[in-house]
Amino acid sequence: MRGLDRYRGHVRELGDYLDLTPDQARAQWAQILRRKPRDRQEAFTPVEAVLCYALFFVVDPHRYGGASMHRAPAIVHSLANLFVRSPGSITSKMMNLDGSRKNAGKHEWRFFVEMATDPDRFPVLYNLALVAARESSIDSARLPDFLHIEGVRDFDLLGQDELSGSTFETIVALKAAKKRAQLLAPNEAETIRMVEQAVRLGQHRFASQVLDDYSHSCAFCGFAPKSIPGNRLLVASHIKPWADSNDVERLDPHNGVAACPTHDAAFDSGLITINGGLRVHRSPSLKRSAVADAKVDAYFGDALAARLLVPDGADGPGRPYLEWHHEHVYQGELVS
Ligand SMILES: [Zn+2]
Repeated sequence: MRGLDRYRGHVRELGDYLDLTPDQARAQWAQILRRKPRDRQEAFTPVEAVLCYALFFVVDPHRYGGASMHRAPAIVHSLANLFVRSPGSITSKMMNLDGSRKNAGKHEWRFFVEMATDPDRFPVLYNLALVAARESSIDSARLPDFLHIEGVRDFDLLGQDELSGSTFETIVALKAAKKRAQLLAPNEAETIRMVEQAVRLGQHRFASQVLDDYSHSCAFCGFAPKSIPGNRLLVASHIKPWADSNDVERLDPHNGVAACPTHDAAFDSGLITINGGLRVHRSPSLKRSAVADAKVDAYFGDALAARLLVPDGADGPGRPYLEWHHEHVYQGELVS
């Protein structure tokens, strides 16, 4: 009986996801490619689930539903077409995975917990699903490598440095207490892992979006190390710090600015700020230092743009965040 159910794809276990083999992945793609639009909704196969998990790196499923589903990023619609499902069923699957829906299967949120516990497994599974798709004649037009890690074995979440400290622990503990009530008896450690991973993925999405918005260059000096693949030479910094922001502000790309590490640190510590007209201001102590020290001047003299470098078409920073920075972070008075 169990074998038959598994064949039909109705019953899944954690091992079906974690121990996915290339043969199984190809068989699952074959099953997906046979679907007809009016077929009764089949249970998600593990390759679909792995790709739905991958979507968390680029999409917050909680932002879209019902009438706003058409605004979901194109990749949600691409996967929906490929899987012969509605876009809403894709985001619902994601919310099963992160334990947001009461009827989620245990193996679904356990998979999410496993990905948090052993993050090196994810790029392997993602690549396995992609390779099997290509072998099943699903090209990159139908299934793009939307994380840009085809052939890459290690993949780090962006922006995690900002999450350090007791604020992170407090926020995770509070959210975990709420979440635990929704789930069927997960233990404390699993719930914490799940919530922690959701917060980390949110921060990754924020950082990727901010770096994209600023065309992967420092908004203060234009430094753009695009020719070094996988470099860590740019930071997506919160204008109003992560620890001081609420849930909405933490994920709002208007609360971010891309910067090289030196200008990021100077902005975070209030040596420089940006006024409402996006002019870059130096604190009095930084100005004095630049006069006395040629090396300081090299980084904070002419190298610093007079006005924040916001690419054409990008929104740039939000006014309330800048005002917060002037008031709480900047080590000087804004006179403009
Ligand atoms: Zn810079």
